[in-house]
Amino acid sequence: MSKNSNIQLSIVIPIYNEQGIIPELVDRLESVKVQIRKDLQISPDKVEVILVNDGSKDNSFSVMRSISETTAGYRLVNLSRNYGHQLATTAGIDVSRGQAVVVMDGDLQDPPEFIIELYRKMLEGYDVVYARRKKRPGESIFKLATAKIFYRILKKITSFDIPLDTGDFRIMSRRVVDVLCSMRESHRYIRGLISWIGFQQTGIEYERAERFEGSTKFSIGKMIKFAVDGITSFSAIPLRLASYLGMATAFLGFLYAAHAIYLKMFTQETIQGWTSMVIIILLLGGIQLLSIGLIGEYLSRVHEESKKRPLYVIEDIYENVSRKKK
Ligand code: UDP
Ligand code: MG
Repeated sequence: MSKNSNIQLSIVIPIYNEQGIIPELVDRLESVKVQIRKDLQISPDKVEVILVNDGSKDNSFSVMRSISETTAGYRLVNLSRNYGHQLATTAGIDVSRGQAVVVMDGDLQDPPEFIIELYRKMLEGYDVVYARRKKRPGESIFKLATAKIFYRILKKITSFDIPLDTGDFRIMSRRVVDVLCSMRESHRYIRGLISWIGFQQTGIEYERAERFEGSTKFSIGKMIKFAVDGITSFSAIPLRLASYLGMATAFLGFLYAAHAIYLKMFTQETIQGWTSMVIIILLLGGIQLLSIGLIGEYLSRVHEESKKRPLYVIEDIYENVSRKKK
């Protein structure tokens, strides 16, 4: 609210190696701006598009740089390297000035036209309106299934409402953005952070399109890291799981010990038992390593946060200079 409050709408788009999509993306955004003027009476000079270059290795940077320096209403935040989708998005949100801020992907899977719908819904009195995916064409069955399971587990183990089947495509009011900007944890799960903030939040459904071009920038490794970040950021239940596992094995161990003593005292069968020995050793070893691993996951996050490094480094911000002077 403090700075440049004449901007009404900021659209934040993280970009990593999308050179083939950017011209089409900008075309679509331009026609959406026209539509926004018509439908919402917001003039295009009150809309800013913030492109965040997340250390792209292709020509994305130069394409976006020339767009942002020649076209009014585009700002390019160039990060010093690849920080990943969540941090790139955070950088864009941090520099945004709009009274409302939209976050969307740059691959046109989130249709820019839908921003108008999101904005309208927000006018009904909501602080956050997220876009819930009805369909996700062009995604592998594996991705759909793992996403489904993950979101349901996350919902079970968190105490506040994280909406199901939503990505980061959403609109937020300035007061939500201000709170979000004050949350500086480095392992970020933005959609969870936003849910945590509260106020009135709602979702509307949309058809998620296929990627306009290229392929997903999320490898399996990145997806797993993202899922673990989501869970560890909002729940300590996995840690408790380790204690439950410990109690259960201790209980079973007690029963088995009673059985072994009984065999020793009343029968002749005590020599045999290599199989059961190996099973017990492997099982206990597995449970112990798993528990240590769980503790390690949380500990490494404590370690990371304690360093208090900045979340990202901005190389420079490029924008249309004639517009800046105004
Ligand atoms: N992205 C990014 N940094 C990364 C990976 C992705 O800024 O390290 C951007 C990417 O350019 C796209 C958005 O994040 O605009 C979503 O990525 P993608 O489409 O690959 O994810 P998916 O839709 O497959 O989940
Ligand atoms: Mg995508």
